[in-house]
Amino acid sequence: MQEALKVIVDIQELDMKMIRLMRLKKERQRELEQIESLRKELYLQFSDKETEIKELGTTIQQQEQKLQEITTRIKKLETQQSNIKKVDEFNALTLETTAAEREKVTMEQKLSDLVDKKVSEEELLERIQSSLKNSEESSKDLEKEIRASIVLINEEGSHLKAKRDAIAKDANPEFLRIYERLLKNKKDRVVVPIENRTCSGCHIVLTAQHENLVRKGENLVFCEHCSRVHYWQEGENAEGADASQAKRRRRRKLASS
Ligand SMILES: [Zn+2]
Repeated sequence: MQEALKVIVDIQELDMKMIRLMRLKKERQRELEQIESLRKELYLQFSDKETEIKELGTTIQQQEQKLQEITTRIKKLETQQSNIKKVDEFNALTLETTAAEREKVTMEQKLSDLVDKKVSEEELLERIQSSLKNSEESSKDLEKEIRASIVLINEEGSHLKAKRDAIAKDANPEFLRIYERLLKNKKDRVVVPIENRTCSGCHIVLTAQHENLVRKGENLVFCEHCSRVHYWQEGENAEGADASQAKRRRRRKLASS
């Protein structure tokens, strides 16, 4: 019984390492995702700005076309006017020309505003492009480092798994099943020793009767507070804390002599 639990405890230690390792891997993957999403964000800004500039270009072309048209119209009006003899017709044409001139001035203003806007948008585009380039360069090394560390994590993970598989072959299948179910719920050590008549999982004090059952080791004994499986650790617990301190003192004495 105690031996069978020891095998489970060994498996558990490997599983704890694996859980830590997988957490680390997730963290590193998240870092990669952050770098990636920052880059995507910049690309998006860049392509949005590009589209905007392209549209501005089209609007400018249309505006230039309109300006061309009104210039032609004004010329035509002037030619027309020079051939007219009647005063009222002449005056009507003058009014029309003046209106057209005014319209032309407005158009020119609008065109000049559009061109200014395009220039400043193009400057912005350049800035986005250079920050995109900078962030790509600076993140390249970081990404490389993260990817390398993920490779190492995977190697260590498969090493751990192989070790675990080998030990699991010798494990009591029923114990292993119970252990794995508990582990799935708690993601923490679930086969724990009793320390000073306390569950070392939830730190709640246990009864003497409970402790005796665990000591006997005839059946699996579960903590009634946290459902972890208890096992008896020989030595440290046997005589309580005082005894183990005395033992440590003795050990120190031996080491120094
Ligand atoms: Zn407990």
